[in-house]
Amino acid sequence: MSYIQLIFVSLPFLKHKKMKQVIEDIDFVSKETYKEACDLPKISKEENTGKSRRLYIESYGCQMNFSDSEIVMSIMQASGFDSTANYKNADVIFLNTCSIRENAEQKIRNKLAQFNIIKKEKPTLIVGVLGCMAERLKTQLLEEEKIVDLVIGPDAYRDLPNLIAEADEGNKAVNVFLSREETYADISPVRLNSNGITAFISIMRGCNNMCSFCVVPYTRGRERSRDPYSIVKEASNLFSEGYREVTLLGQNVDSYNWKAKEGNETVNFAELLEKVALVHPDLRVRFSTSHPKDITDAVLHTIKKYDNICKAIHLPAQSGNSRILGLMNRTYNREWYIQKIDRIRTILGEDCGITTDMITGFCSETEEEHGETLSLMEYVQYHFAYMFTYSERPGTPAAKQFKDDIDETVKKRRLNEIIALQSKHSLIRNKKEIGKVRRVLVEGVSKRSDTFYKGRTTQNTTIIFPEGKFKKGNYVDVLVEDCTAATLFGKVVE
Ligand code: SAM
Ligand code: SF4
Repeated sequence: MSYIQLIFVSLPFLKHKKMKQVIEDIDFVSKETYKEACDLPKISKEENTGKSRRLYIESYGCQMNFSDSEIVMSIMQASGFDSTANYKNADVIFLNTCSIRENAEQKIRNKLAQFNIIKKEKPTLIVGVLGCMAERLKTQLLEEEKIVDLVIGPDAYRDLPNLIAEADEGNKAVNVFLSREETYADISPVRLNSNGITAFISIMRGCNNMCSFCVVPYTRGRERSRDPYSIVKEASNLFSEGYREVTLLGQNVDSYNWKAKEGNETVNFAELLEKVALVHPDLRVRFSTSHPKDITDAVLHTIKKYDNICKAIHLPAQSGNSRILGLMNRTYNREWYIQKIDRIRTILGEDCGITTDMITGFCSETEEEHGETLSLMEYVQYHFAYMFTYSERPGTPAAKQFKDDIDETVKKRRLNEIIALQSKHSLIRNKKEIGKVRRVLVEGVSKRSDTFYKGRTTQNTTIIFPEGKFKKGNYVDVLVEDCTAATLFGKVVE
């Protein structure tokens, strides 16, 4: 083989090797997210607009919490704070916390110990615990964690300026009042971890479902739907600012049901989805989370009707066994869940991405029942799943009524089995994409290589492609050429 021939052979090889390197790096992150998705904190950005004091917020848990931190930042900005990404430079530190699993709370306690060292050097530093852990432990948190000055529940953020004033006087301050009305509808969130292209919009708060394992109804209160006109306004403003994708957030978006205070106007989730889709055809719309008991055909038909509503549904099953689903108080059984999957497939076809949450080792779960979770996964072949071992939460119906009797090693083994199966299914799904051309919104450069862009397909799968002449916020058609279980790789076709 001549030297010239060698170059021609090795160039595609090198390109492929580089692609793989990018993919493997991202896969590493994605594998971690299987177990840790809800445990990775988000940190406020550095912003200096000349305000007198600096706030550092570290947020844990679900997207709702991250979205709440943006409301908190808006309130704090109005009372004289800039945000900082370095807690050592902060006058006030907030931890916006999650209580969903025990290890989430343990992480917060470890963080507080770390901040204690800073507080010893800087006694004027104010440390506040916000969100679900604040709501769950209330004043107990002040007794257990001496470093904490403020404890603020998720419905009390408007009171922050008063609480800070109390702390400035050297007092401890607590507000964990849960509201039946607060939706923060009039507050414009300050985008904290934004790429400038995608944003989250909270459309409701709280949860009325009483899944027996879950603390959310106790930490975030009763379900309330936000005024749809304020939601549409927020989406329109985001579009004008250059954002091209919004994700509508709620614990159970399908039960969104707004009623006007005067008159008899009502808006359900299908109607809201349509209103947001109509903001602009170039504004992509996603939503999360759907509850299998509430998702309707009307929602599925609305998704189908608008190209800019993404074909992706997060439909947590939690278990594939009807007895366990009954103990979990999910209010549906295996057959109901399968019938919902079938409706999605009938109305939206195989092309709709379906993702789930699963809990392994719930109280009294047998090997056969765990097997039914695996067989449900085989039936659906999810694009992606968040998978957890059951973690007993004090005060929940499950903690009161059932014994957490599955050995930790058994829980972990079952978790590893569902993770392995999910990886297999994600790979199958991604391999089916090879050869297809997908419309992708360019979200920015890939984490590990600035000559590659990353974006997502309508199904919500990450795709990496050489940057070419395109810009963040552009829509491009990408031919899928290669994949791993977590990532697609392709090239732009024009
Ligand atoms: N509202 C969503 C729903 O109904 O699916 C989920 C909200 S929760 C913040 C996210 C996920 O955490 C749940 O779907 C469930 O899989 C998991 N989770 C909740 N409580 C848990 C617990 N006690 N132990 C383990 N996982 C839990
Ligand atoms: Fe928790 Fe169930 Fe409400 Fe989801 S629907 S937040 S799992 S109680």
